[in-house]
Amino acid sequence: MEQRIIDEIENVVGKDGYSTRTADLYTYGFDASIFHNTPEIVVKPKSTEEVSEIMKIAYREGIPVVPRGAGTGLCGSAVPIRGGIVLTMQGMNRIKEISVADLWVDVEAGCVYNDLNAELSKHGFFFPPSPGSGEACQVGGMVATNASGMRAVKYGATRDFVLGLTFVKSDGEIVRSGTRTIKDSSGYQLARLMVGSEGTLGVITEITFKLTAKPKFSASCLCGFDSLAEAGECIAAFIAKPLIPASCELMDNVSISAVNRARGNPLPDVNSLIIVEVDGESDEIVRRDLKIIEEIAMGIGAISVTPSFDAAEIARWTDARKSVMTSLSALKPGFSSVSLADDMGVPVSKVPQAVKAFQEIAEKYRVTVATYGHAADGNLHTKMLIDPTDKDEWERGIRAVEEIFDVCIALGGTVTGEHGVGIAKAPSFQKERASVLSSIVAIKKAMDPKNILNPGKLEQWEGPILTHLRYPCPGVGCRDLRENGCPCGQSD
Ligand SMILES: Cc1cc2nc3c(=O)[nH]c(=O)nc-3n(C[C@H](O)[C@H](O)[C@H](O)COP(=O)(O)OP(=O)(O)OC[C@H]3O[C@@H](n4cnc5c(N)ncnc54)[C@H](O)[C@@H]3O)c2cc1C
Repeated sequence: MEQRIIDEIENVVGKDGYSTRTADLYTYGFDASIFHNTPEIVVKPKSTEEVSEIMKIAYREGIPVVPRGAGTGLCGSAVPIRGGIVLTMQGMNRIKEISVADLWVDVEAGCVYNDLNAELSKHGFFFPPSPGSGEACQVGGMVATNASGMRAVKYGATRDFVLGLTFVKSDGEIVRSGTRTIKDSSGYQLARLMVGSEGTLGVITEITFKLTAKPKFSASCLCGFDSLAEAGECIAAFIAKPLIPASCELMDNVSISAVNRARGNPLPDVNSLIIVEVDGESDEIVRRDLKIIEEIAMGIGAISVTPSFDAAEIARWTDARKSVMTSLSALKPGFSSVSLADDMGVPVSKVPQAVKAFQEIAEKYRVTVATYGHAADGNLHTKMLIDPTDKDEWERGIRAVEEIFDVCIALGGTVTGEHGVGIAKAPSFQKERASVLSSIVAIKKAMDPKNILNPGKLEQWEGPILTHLRYPCPGVGCRDLRENGCPCGQSD
């Protein structure tokens, strides 16, 4: 980047508000996905006005800008594939105002999810989506990906809590969209348009979230099964009852073995399990729901049913479930857990069919696939364990992924329930949303006419996904995987 532009940026954010150090540039080229690319500068604004000034410079010069939260995204959304500016929001993390009487909180985009909830809980409220990355991910990143998690089945995803937000357009214009009212019918819902936009339409700087009262009582139940299909059937039966749990997590035998091996056996040695949480305003309601859960699980053939009110025991189960991703990489020496097909959504009644198909696909392509997830809302994670230095592993993995995505689309589902599209799911997203792509292109053009905001992602992605890999090129693997040369560009 030219020195005169760096000087201009320094005038906006000060000496400490940016970095061009090699180590920083390298670090901010990652998120938690399999991808990496180095930006030219990392800029850390402290206010909406500073974001606006930086965008004006980028717009004038035609420099790509990738807004970045905590970089916990799993599909490459925050990886700056065209270099340019990474705009990190960590300097904008204030909780500005809470109005419990009006049920809203105003918060800056860089606030960490758990920090917001720690503050809200002092008032008896919470922001429910509960992503597994809550200790680190920022609320701006959550809005930009419509993140959710364990509690989405009962409480909804991030989009369901966005009343309004402030964002900066690509040319630097500051837009305040939405309201602080619970209801709002005033025309186009621009705040909602920003939900799931993955940094391609504007930089979100402040958000007004709706508050939700914290439930007073809760309990959990761990049910073990002989087969994954039975666990899937059990979840569909809860919902059909109807019994809407606060959360309901599914784990298959690969996930259970990985966690038990890595974390000293916190889970029973069963083929598959679900951890169901119920909550409510009274102890009676919670006990009644637990009983219904036990009856349904036993009726479906559960081999163990363990209800619990013990906070320490429940925390152990939750922690075990949250550790699947990291535990998997410890399962086989030399193998890594990679996020390829990692968070599909299917209608809940199709969960048994989907998980069966995933197992068949894994066997067909001889890859280790762990299936787990927030299955009561139909959101299934499949992490793949591969040797990232082995071309053949990648090749079989990619084929398996494509089939897994096709199954989900055919079942009326989506290739991404909560993590977003980024790079990893761009080709399948384009397939799934073929009928809306031209509208998406038109919206992007209207909001970002110079195409500087996170360019090259979502509808703009072209070619195979095995590009910009964070791993050393697997020999000539990438080159051989596709006919048109090695897309990662690092094989030589
Ligand atoms: C261990 C682990 C568990 C996870 N569990 C879950 C889960 O349960 N549920 C879930 O939904 N996700 C989960 N994720 C994925 C990830 O945490 C979420 O997608 C999260 O919302 C990303 O937030 P972030 O702040 O890290 O955003 P980043 O990864 O930094 O960015 C994600 C996208 O948002 C854009 N963006 C970020 N901030 C802004 C902004 N202020 N304005 C405009 N665009 C912006 C970026 O450009 C990028 O496109 C998990 C990740 C990990 C590593």
